[in-house]
Formats: sequence, structure tokens, C-alpha cells
Amino acid sequence: MTKLDFSALNKNAADSYHQQRNLIKKVCKGEQINCQHCQLIISLIPAQDGIAFIRCNKGCTNIELELG
Ligand SMILES: [Zn+2]
Repeated sequence: MTKLDFSALNKNAADSYHQQRNLIKKVCKGEQINCQHCQLIISLIPAQDGIAFIRCNKGCTNIELELG
């Protein structure tokens, strides 16, 4: 893998990290956000032990979230 490939990878990782943070913020505020893959609405699903999931119905968006 070349140096160029690495920096492209890092940029994508940073982008998706920020996208994920934004998504979490919006869903927690009660905004309706659609999954960018399947376009279904993403919902906040409380689990146990202070864990919640932010996921769409199909599961292509599935973010584990630790609640404080
Ligand atoms: Zn989806």
C-alpha cells in the first residue's frame, strides 16, 4: 500500500467519525434522520447497562452508544 492510500484512508476514517458524531447528536435531540444506505429512519434504541443503539431497521447503520 502506498503512502497516498494511507492518507486517503485516514481522511475517510476522520470523515465518518465526524459524521457519526453528528448523527448521534441529531438522533439524541429527536431529529428524524434517514439512514444514508437504506433511507429508513434511524432510531435510538435503549439497551441495558447504560448502552443504547442508534440504528436503522435494516441494521446497516448500527452505532453502539454509551450513555453517561
Ligand atoms: Zn440502513
